[in-house]
Amino acid sequence: MTNQSEDLLKEEGTRKVDPALHEDASKDCIFCHIAKGTVPAVKLYEDSETVAFLDINPVHPGHVLVIPKDHYENVYSTPAEAWLRMMMTVQKMAVAVKNATDADGINIEMNNESAAGQVMFHAHVHIIPRFNEDGLKHWPSKAYKDHEEMQAVSEKIIAELK
Ligand code: 5GP
Ligand code: ZN
Repeated sequence: MTNQSEDLLKEEGTRKVDPALHEDASKDCIFCHIAKGTVPAVKLYEDSETVAFLDINPVHPGHVLVIPKDHYENVYSTPAEAWLRMMMTVQKMAVAVKNATDADGINIEMNNESAAGQVMFHAHVHIIPRFNEDGLKHWPSKAYKDHEEMQAVSEKIIAELK
């Protein structure tokens, strides 16, 4: 990433992406190729802004990925309009997946950055059919140490909502 690109991204926040950066990243991106049709995928739905296709290594059959057609790396850099369009497709696909697979439930998940398990760096949302007793566990959780810890983290998050 050039300094200029970094500056532009900082200036523009999450709303706009440096077009040069956008083009570079999308050239070698498999999900961009899937969106364009230059890499094969089992596509289930497509509109002017989004594509939904089967994940090649599903948690369960019917595990779907929804992507914006344009290349954005993650939630932070996806413009609001592209995000909303992606979410509309996610909802449409969640209902279709539930009914088609007779799922008892659906997980909707997005991994952002390696630390959160992101492997494909083109924004995508997982729609995963789930079944009673399918043996999968949710991520572990723990209680706050005390009220102060809860208060401190909430204040920091609220301060970021400018
Ligand atoms: P992430 O961990 O980045 O959220 O997940 C990436 C997902 O993309 C994985 O579940 C993986 O199975 C899926 N995937 C990776 N490469 C391909 C591909 O070429 N085609 C399809 N359909 N899915 C892929
Ligand atoms: Zn891409």
